[in-house]
Amino acid sequence: MAKMIERASERARIPFKNAAFTDFSKAENRQAQLEALEQVKSELGQTHPLVIGGKKINSEKTFASLNPSNPEQVIGYFASATAEQANEAVKAAEEAFTSWKRVPAEERAGYIFAAADLLSQKRFYFNAWMIYEVGKSWAEADGDTAEAIDFLEFYGREMVRLGSDQPLTQVEGEENKLVYIPLGVGAVIPPWNFPGAIMVGMTAASIVTGNAVVLKPASTSPMIAWQFMRMLEEVGLPAGVVNFVTGSGGTIGDALIEHPRMRFIAFTGSREVGLRIHELAAKPQKGQVWIKRTVLEMGGKDAVVVDETADLDSAATGIVASAFGFQGQKCSAGSRAIIVEKVYDEVLQKVIEKTKKLSLGDVTQPETYMGPVVDQNAYNKINEYIEVGKGEGRLLTGGGHHGPGYFIEPTVIADVAPRARIAQEEIFGPVLAVIKAKDFDDALAIANSTEYGLTGALYSRDAARIEQAEEEFHVGNLYFNRKCTGALVGVQPFGGFNMSGTDSKAGGHDYLLLFTQAKSIATKK
Ligand code: NAP
Repeated sequence: MAKMIERASERARIPFKNAAFTDFSKAENRQAQLEALEQVKSELGQTHPLVIGGKKINSEKTFASLNPSNPEQVIGYFASATAEQANEAVKAAEEAFTSWKRVPAEERAGYIFAAADLLSQKRFYFNAWMIYEVGKSWAEADGDTAEAIDFLEFYGREMVRLGSDQPLTQVEGEENKLVYIPLGVGAVIPPWNFPGAIMVGMTAASIVTGNAVVLKPASTSPMIAWQFMRMLEEVGLPAGVVNFVTGSGGTIGDALIEHPRMRFIAFTGSREVGLRIHELAAKPQKGQVWIKRTVLEMGGKDAVVVDETADLDSAATGIVASAFGFQGQKCSAGSRAIIVEKVYDEVLQKVIEKTKKLSLGDVTQPETYMGPVVDQNAYNKINEYIEVGKGEGRLLTGGGHHGPGYFIEPTVIADVAPRARIAQEEIFGPVLAVIKAKDFDDALAIANSTEYGLTGALYSRDAARIEQAEEEFHVGNLYFNRKCTGALVGVQPFGGFNMSGTDSKAGGHDYLLLFTQAKSIATKK
């Protein structure tokens, strides 16, 4: 234990640095990824239990996680937990909390650093599961894993910082200190679209601060969470600190959120579910002695704005990358391109040309840019939006879909009115609405006209407009002359305004505070 503390303290002194993305143009990396894909293929179709208080619990009722590229292929079978099992998991977390909260901050960080090392070693393997389970391209899967490693490294360091002496104004005759203590038991409810990074990030932040949790992964990506659970077990994390409960959010979500011993909920997902959690958590239950804390990160309808001074080629590249990376299934996806009249036709033409060049298909191959959307529901919903879009604008490229996987072509719909449904509602798929603005001020007003406020980008060379956008473009993550996706841990802390959530700024120096409460202690000398 003493060694672990020493090592964690030493590591925390090394400044945080983002994990580099894998260079797949190198033959050895391509080979390693192909081998990991083969390895994962040989492990498909197995059944995985719940983990409650360290015990593996099989369930009679299971559900299958399917490969969206080939829905006949089962990634794995997972237990469909009942509400009673969800309650047991809360109890197990509460038991573990009594000792885990006393573990020194550096030691807790030590587990997180050990998990970062293991994940780095197993990077290609972890990528491969994402390629199979959610249809990420190699680069997208690798970026997701890199971000997961970053969260572990960053929050480990942050906990060592929070665990050390805090600067306070001292007064004569007293000794004052401030300590950050954990909250208690939490529910971690991540989405499937960053099944590695967001799941690892929310779990790591919760436990490194001394809480114990029930991790309920999204039902379309339980395998990635299972792989992380295996790593936590391998690094020797005490039983019950993370309890793994799979099953439909609709079935077990309420039991977790309403539980009187639940202290906080860390959620990332849709606006609808986030608001429901907010409402349920607000209502005190019998025997509950605290106000539940919710960290809710939700959807987006993000915009890339282009004015007439911009480098138009670079703007078109940014629009296409923001709209279609991981099939547009990012909360940060630039699903609206808002272009001023003067350069509208020119930029649109470039966007269409670039979109037509994107490859859609087999994500087990390194050169594929886009894969399938995540499941049948997403496929149906996105195709319905494309039909709506055909009535709301001009479909200029894409619009098609083909099986057997859930493949939808990158779709560009132009001349969309700012208040049209496809310009206001989160589609969460490869559909770009292109909107014409009269001038820059109009473009900015359109950009701010949805109920969301997550990310946004402006392409412009006009310093005064950049300054204006800095003040008026109302989003949590604003970018100039670059795409609006791809926030880096520690570099661009992430979280949105308005209906995009509670602006928790994951990967930022304020994030861990959301998982702690500060105790001020004064002693008269
Ligand atoms: P979702 O349908 O809201 O699901 C998110 C999680 O909530 C899943 O684990 C889901 O479990 C669970 N859930 C569903 N119903 C629940 C309930 N009644 N009670 C408790 N939990 C429940 O979202 P998603 O489709 O996974 O993710 C896409 C959404 O996430 C998009 O809106 C996207 O913008 C947003 N997102 C936001 C951010 C951000 O940082 N702001 C980042 C990534 C994604 P089941 O799978 O079992 O239903």
